[in-house]
Amino acid sequence: MNHQDKKVVTLAYGCQMSERDADTLTAISAQEGYIRSNDLENADLIIINTCCVRESAENKILGKIGEMKKLKEKNPHLKIAVSGCMVQQPGALERLQHRAPHVDIWAGTHNLPEFGRLIQQAEENQKVAEVWDEPGPALEATPLAEKGKLKASVNISYGCNNFCTYCIVPHVRGRERSRKPEDILCEVQELVESGCKEITLLGQNVNSYGHDLDISYDFADLLKQVDKIPGLLRVRFLTSHPKDLSDKLIGAVAAGEHLCEHFHLPIQSGSNEILKRMNRKYTREYYLNRIEKIREIIPEASITTDVIVGFPGETEGDFEQTLDIIDTVRFSQAFTFMYSKRSGTPAAVMPDQIPLDVKKRRLQLLMDHQNDQSLEWRKGMLGKIYEVLVEGPSKSNPDRLTGRTPGNELVVFSGDLELKGSLVKVRMLEARSWTLLGEIVTSLAGIS
Ligand code: SAH
Ligand code: SF4
Repeated sequence: MNHQDKKVVTLAYGCQMSERDADTLTAISAQEGYIRSNDLENADLIIINTCCVRESAENKILGKIGEMKKLKEKNPHLKIAVSGCMVQQPGALERLQHRAPHVDIWAGTHNLPEFGRLIQQAEENQKVAEVWDEPGPALEATPLAEKGKLKASVNISYGCNNFCTYCIVPHVRGRERSRKPEDILCEVQELVESGCKEITLLGQNVNSYGHDLDISYDFADLLKQVDKIPGLLRVRFLTSHPKDLSDKLIGAVAAGEHLCEHFHLPIQSGSNEILKRMNRKYTREYYLNRIEKIREIIPEASITTDVIVGFPGETEGDFEQTLDIIDTVRFSQAFTFMYSKRSGTPAAVMPDQIPLDVKKRRLQLLMDHQNDQSLEWRKGMLGKIYEVLVEGPSKSNPDRLTGRTPGNELVVFSGDLELKGSLVKVRMLEARSWTLLGEIVTSLAGIS
């Protein structure tokens, strides 16, 4: 086979960090001569980067891995790689190998730097599996994600030290490790030089960034430096743990030139009793105090959240408290989940697990409340002018353009395709269920 003809298709599941890992794996496979493609039927390598944060995600991915068997029967040269959080779960590898013997490469979250070698071994028809219990050498030596994209994500830390009792993440991504500021700044700089206009800084808890560095340097310091990189139009960040959201950070966002006024601040539950059992280390009062502080310093800030319903022992009273906080805070958007039992986490063995029908009912109610709030939030934007980064033609309406506000709200408007990659001022005219319709008032910056 011609070296240049090899094609890789990467399927990414889960959070933005998992998507970023998938990009890195694609970049490593490019070093091995594979060109990125979307054509599963003609692929030479398929990478499935997995997520295990909830059972529903796992079931979907298991189905996908199963489907690969047929593709392999049609194309015996095809190599299948399965990587990421599902593979990294303690004791999972053996079970997965038994269930999917057609997979050629298994790689845990800590084994990204080894991926090139694993591909080479698979090309020699070896079945390979590498799942280290602990992180190995730093990832600094691995290549960047695909360059030249308008928006890109950059990891600022790996892992998590918080051990929320429902969550598998610390078990599959290890303890928190902050990357050195100079490595992060260098990666952002390179991405900007390749045409990137918006960077999202990623960490399970960006607010605790730097605690493990030998210098006195925190996330607010990092944001200030990233903000100064010439050519970068926008900086976003996720996720902010409420317990670590400092006034200094809110102040840094307010003072920043390119920092988006958006905080993703997962509340998880509105009940103090549940928050305690979740090991979230804040109370609803403290959370509300943080919201107040954000709104005092940045009144227009958009705040989004994550909420779990049906955590073990959640009473109707606890759930009411969650609804109450949804109705009080005015989140612009909420990601809502039914609690999912994750083996190895403390909550999985807590008494009073909530039946599925109760969880479903609570989820629906929660979504109804939040949908009203989201619509109200967008209606509150009408008539006002926002800065929008033009991303290109709208998917649902290709004659129009689409882009996002600093608060991450999706806007559709008419304009010249040449505006792609630039900032424009858009007046909001109509609030739909998930989007806003607007009209360009003026172009701002970034037009080349
Ligand atoms: N580090 C981030 C994201 C963690 S995972 C944070 O702390 O917010 C993303 C979201 O998935 C979480 O915020 C939580 O709402 C949800 N989640 C995590 N584990 C879950 C579980 N076992 N069941 C249901 N939802 C879960
Ligand atoms: Fe999971 Fe909690 Fe860490 Fe977020 S902070 S990754 S929810 S343990």
